[in-house]
Amino acid sequence: MLVNQDIEQLNEYLYCIKECDSVNRYVVVGSDQAMLIDTGYGFADFRQLIKKITDKPLITVLTHGHPDHGLGAYLFDEVWVHEKDYLRLLKDDNQETKALAVNHRLKKMPELINQMNPEVYNQKLIKQTTFRYFKEGDSFDLGGIVLKIIEIPGHSYGSVALYEETKGWLFTGDTLAHYNIWNQMDFVDSPRLSVLMATYKKLAQMRKIEEIYPAHGEKPIDRGIIDESIDGLKDLLTHHDEDEKIDTFMGTAYRHVYKHFILLYSKAHLEDALENGLE
Ligand SMILES: [Zn+2]
Ligand SMILES: [Zn+2]
Repeated sequence: MLVNQDIEQLNEYLYCIKECDSVNRYVVVGSDQAMLIDTGYGFADFRQLIKKITDKPLITVLTHGHPDHGLGAYLFDEVWVHEKDYLRLLKDDNQETKALAVNHRLKKMPELINQMNPEVYNQKLIKQTTFRYFKEGDSFDLGGIVLKIIEIPGHSYGSVALYEETKGWLFTGDTLAHYNIWNQMDFVDSPRLSVLMATYKKLAQMRKIEEIYPAHGEKPIDRGIIDESIDGLKDLLTHHDEDEKIDTFMGTAYRHVYKHFILLYSKAHLEDALENGLE
């Protein structure tokens, strides 16, 4: 069994190809077309696995422009992303950053080396891929399944969710999960927490959401995580003294846990929220 590339069928139309035990990449199959939601780092070529699931024409989209979701775009001719995250993605599309990511991952998962060639991987850049931009309200009709773009800034400026209204599915990238939500970069990379709060409140209004498919951690999770995230952000303002300081490979962060909501944040983000509020 390949540790990096197992296919998991979640329901009649939906599959997950996990990368490195961490990133959930979803394949949604309609009657006419299929969609890949996030490419992962693309350490190994997983296009054959998608072919095992479906031979329908494939639309590839990114929930946001972070490297663990989008650097694998080099495997595809055309990829959709929000314009606000395209430059963010390009920032990591170089041999130095990719080598860091590979080394970090190989430390956690040494057996990955059997499925990839780090030198070849580091040379494969996404500049050959054609990127197209979507925005709020755009939709993709796969045949029987329609996925609509919902802008959900907060974790990054150009984060989006894909919403299948009749089925109640919402694919949320790194914005809603029973997993670390990283918001500890400077404001250039990571919007203020009030932006994240506005997104959570927007999603709370969408009453037909039933199953949430995040890009990390368990899946699906129920919509209770939306209210927990709202309450968790409020809780941060009053209960942060005990928050643990941690070192990540992306820098120092503080970790706030409230029920299933886990936020990694910077001191600057907290100070901004304390001073200006979350509204
Ligand atoms: Zn992310
Ligand atoms: Zn991520």
